[in-house]
Amino acid sequence: MVKVYNIMIRCPVTQKPLFTGFQTASPEEFAREIYKNVRVSCPHCKSEHRWRKDEAFLLPEESASESSTLWRPNR
Ligand SMILES: [Zn+2]
Repeated sequence: MVKVYNIMIRCPVTQKPLFTGFQTASPEEFAREIYKNVRVSCPHCKSEHRWRKDEAFLLPEESASESSTLWRPNR
């Protein structure tokens, strides 16, 4: 069973989790990948953020639907 991780950052303005548009196969794979000056347009504050690898975190895709409830008003 293939599991994919969404690479997430936290919006510095709203502190909400934000999907960068990148995915990785495993934390080990992510550790080998290089991300430099990557930009993502943020749906929360309607601006663009640059992010570095050390501020990103991984979210297994199977829990992605669960995480989307984080910014919904009711569960
Ligand atoms: Zn933002």
